[in-house]
Amino acid sequence: MNLTKQKRYINKKYLAAARNQSCTARLKGCSYNNETTVACHSPFAKSGIGQKASDTEIAFLDDHCHSVLDRRIPSEYTREELKAEFKSARKLTHIKLNELGLMKKSEIGVIK
Ligand SMILES: [Zn+2]
Repeated sequence: MNLTKQKRYINKKYLAAARNQSCTARLKGCSYNNETTVACHSPFAKSGIGQKASDTEIAFLDDHCHSVLDRRIPSEYTREELKAEFKSARKLTHIKLNELGLMKKSEIGVIK
């Protein structure tokens, strides 16, 4: 038994719903290419070391914005700006999940 690991919320439907959605971050340089959109876990969420964030801590992002937010490619955004961008992208993603009937209105913005 492992008591050190916190349970993370898992919902594969949230992740699958990203397919062909538009990017919710639309940072400078965004490809606006829905075909590259995936559900990206927050690089800012508080989780255990080496542990992925819960599936509520996601944003639908195209390949470019995903790379910028994960800092795999350089950008002019500061860490704080990226954090704010991710937060609003996450909100839009939750609203989208609600529209798709996968998330209750009362769950929008809630961390599980
Ligand atoms: Zn984008």
